[in-house]
Amino acid sequence: MPSDVFFMDLSATSRENLPDKLGRLINKAGIKKILGKKDHTAIKIHFGEKGNTAYIRPVFIRRIIETIKKTGAMPFLTDANTLYVGTRCNAVSHITTAIENGFAYSSMDNTPIIIADGLFGKSETPVTVDKKNCGQVYIGSEIVHATALVSVAHFKGHELSGFGGTIKNVGMGSASRRGKLDQHSNVSPKIKRKTCIGCGECAAHCPGEAIFLEDKKAYITKEKCIGCAECIVRCPTGSITINWNQTIPVFMEKMVEYTCGVLKNKQNKALFINFITDIAPKCDCLSYTESPIVNNIGVVASLDPVAIDQASVDLVNQQQGLSHTALKTGLAPGEDKFKGLYPDVDWSHQLAYAEEIGLGTRDYKLVKLRTLAYKKSE
Ligand code: SF4
Ligand code: SF4
Repeated sequence: MPSDVFFMDLSATSRENLPDKLGRLINKAGIKKILGKKDHTAIKIHFGEKGNTAYIRPVFIRRIIETIKKTGAMPFLTDANTLYVGTRCNAVSHITTAIENGFAYSSMDNTPIIIADGLFGKSETPVTVDKKNCGQVYIGSEIVHATALVSVAHFKGHELSGFGGTIKNVGMGSASRRGKLDQHSNVSPKIKRKTCIGCGECAAHCPGEAIFLEDKKAYITKEKCIGCAECIVRCPTGSITINWNQTIPVFMEKMVEYTCGVLKNKQNKALFINFITDIAPKCDCLSYTESPIVNNIGVVASLDPVAIDQASVDLVNQQQGLSHTALKTGLAPGEDKFKGLYPDVDWSHQLAYAEEIGLGTRDYKLVKLRTLAYKKSE
């Protein structure tokens, strides 16, 4: 049976602005079904790295908070610390970055930020999943302790998973540092010395500070590599490779298994929202944002974490790609934008595997919210 995915486009009128429409979308999608009075509700978002501008606008997050509070639940904003050295790698700089990006207590309807895995990413709770790749997964404790979850993901491209949506936000984003490392552990890039020209691009952009240059050739210190794949997309000569066929499917499967772990104690207590806006080619962990590959589309909400990502991919792929962006092939409506960005990545594997292990279904019904007409006097 198909899962409902509720969709709002970005048209607004004097009868209903976009935050109001978003509130209506969330109610339609079933927020009242999943939240009870006093439910400690983790709103899992990405606050954006310092310098990034594609993360979800705070005004929309505020409306989500207000809608949750109307149910009597007690929301808090959360994310887990990053693996790489950046502005969100410990709770102090993470919260500081969040505030600088507009998520201050006062603008978020007096809602606190609680970093899920604590000061240094060590506050984790192991959750048994008994899946193909992971027996246990390691999740930021405060997300495990929360009694309900609302995932709010910014939908965009991603170097390793093709796209990043709900599954990435929940599975990767909620993992503690150990959990993130576990998911990236088999991404092990290698440098072809023959073609390396020693330009240093890879080293300059390596968030793990794992690459050094010697005699105009690049070398990776394995122990420092966090498997983010940034060097691969940076290299102008294609000298950095991984075994895409073996590595990426396992990475995606682990991400899906982590999502199962996060949702294990939240059966019928989780709602998923994807903002399909500012659809950048790479994730919001970067300290800059490249031009969007298609125009803004809208917001989707669902109780099914697989259906919502499938619907989001389809909505993006239906668009005309924008020229003069990172998207060089697959620009026509109907063509695969994520394959166009990352030809070596089969994004569909994460959804196929998620469906296979019962996380949700790729079969969905898109329920479109109508835009309320202008007031009669106008
Ligand atoms: S994958 Fe590349 S960029 Fe990422 S940490 Fe490893 S060496 Fe650095
Ligand atoms: S980016 Fe590529 S060519 Fe440049 S130093 Fe690194 S591996 Fe060599």
